[in-house]
Amino acid sequence: MNELSNSVAHADITTILHPYTDARMHEQKGPLVIEKGDGVHVIDQSGKRYIEAMSGLWSVAVGFSQTRLRDAAAAQMEKLPYYHTFASKSHEPSVRLAEKLVEMTPENLTRVFYTSSGSEANDTVIKLVWYMNNALGRPQKKKFLARNKAYHGITIASGSLTGLPGNHRDFDLPAIPVVHLTCPHLYRFGQEGETEAQFCARLLKEAEDTILAEGPETIAAFIGEPVMGAGGVMVPPEGYWQGIEALCRKYDILLVSDEVINGFGRTGARWGCEKMGFTPDILVTSKQLTSSYMPLAAIVFSEDIYNVIADNTHKLGGFGHGFTASGHPVACAVGLENLAIIEEQGLMENAAKMGERLQAGLAKLADHPLVGEVRGTGLIAAVELVADKATKRPFDPVGKVGGKVFEYGHEEGVIFRNLGDSIAVCPPLIVTEHDVDEIVRLMGIAIDRAADWARAEGLV
Ligand code: PMP
Repeated sequence: MNELSNSVAHADITTILHPYTDARMHEQKGPLVIEKGDGVHVIDQSGKRYIEAMSGLWSVAVGFSQTRLRDAAAAQMEKLPYYHTFASKSHEPSVRLAEKLVEMTPENLTRVFYTSSGSEANDTVIKLVWYMNNALGRPQKKKFLARNKAYHGITIASGSLTGLPGNHRDFDLPAIPVVHLTCPHLYRFGQEGETEAQFCARLLKEAEDTILAEGPETIAAFIGEPVMGAGGVMVPPEGYWQGIEALCRKYDILLVSDEVINGFGRTGARWGCEKMGFTPDILVTSKQLTSSYMPLAAIVFSEDIYNVIADNTHKLGGFGHGFTASGHPVACAVGLENLAIIEEQGLMENAAKMGERLQAGLAKLADHPLVGEVRGTGLIAAVELVADKATKRPFDPVGKVGGKVFEYGHEEGVIFRNLGDSIAVCPPLIVTEHDVDEIVRLMGIAIDRAADWARAEGLV
């Protein structure tokens, strides 16, 4: 390490509280300081290259060195670096991107609201739905249905929708009325001998029983990631989403598709809802919207919802919601250029093609003695490691062996993410066949090394 990197590392551990990090351990080990991006690779301060098999945080569709996004940002900075969208103010980048989002999303979605993050977007969803039901004179219709293991963000409200203990336990959440249903993951939550169809039927019955027990007049919306991401990459059983959609229609419940990870080709289709075969009333997008070069999220929603809000803003005392950076011009300009690149370069088509290769490659690891399940669709996948394949018994403690795969991955020059003992893969949409094969090969090596370590530790 050179002097600069030492000084950065030192300043880091003496100043920053890192998200999702064990602070005391971090003080001992120090940060991995990433200095540069190059296509699907990132490069640390020592010059070591890593394939970024997680696209950062599931988000960098176009890779880490797309100069067109730099140029789009610079041009917008030059022309109008900032303006807001409160009180009827507007600017072209926010309008052009909204048009594009309306064009790209399912036909019934016609209106756009901007935020800077997925969490704020989901908070906005909650508030839009509450506002709407207040306007409709049904103030009791406020509860959300979500699922265990869902990830919808970490603010007080979106964090309440999230269904992960680590996001609730120590933060006094949930803090809004939300009911979490069973995670639609057969391998972990199926009962002994249950088929996929039986599992699906049981989940749909649970959903309907819950709606009836709570009272449909109290349930405002169902929110879900079409393919669940941060909870461990779970693809729901066939027919699940159609069943959920039917229940939402039957009981007048809005259906929200959280596509913060799924959107723009990630699952092998343009939208996760298209892949799963349902039509939401509200779609939430972020991450690949700008390839995370700028912070931006958008919710795209139906004309019906818009009309209720629009008809009532003068009666309900205005519309008291919006962020300083809602529709930020530089973020929107980068988003527009990013979507142009995705379309021009056929990156969604590439994701579908490379996705098949990735899933087929990872499936070959299923025979490994530590691998319980390989799952995914398109360019999002996970390999779940278990202590006992036959009984699916997880490691105790959970996450230690997964952590080793993560660590060995770094040593081998690849960045995975371990969600407990599920190793997630979610590479940029620009990956080539060679990149995909390399990711699969390095995953195999990292798992072999973790298996040796686990045996030496007596964990298997
Ligand atoms: N929804 C989903 C599905 C997500 O995966 C995430 C982030 N991983 C969020 C919402 C929250 O987004 P942010 O981190 O930008 O607040």
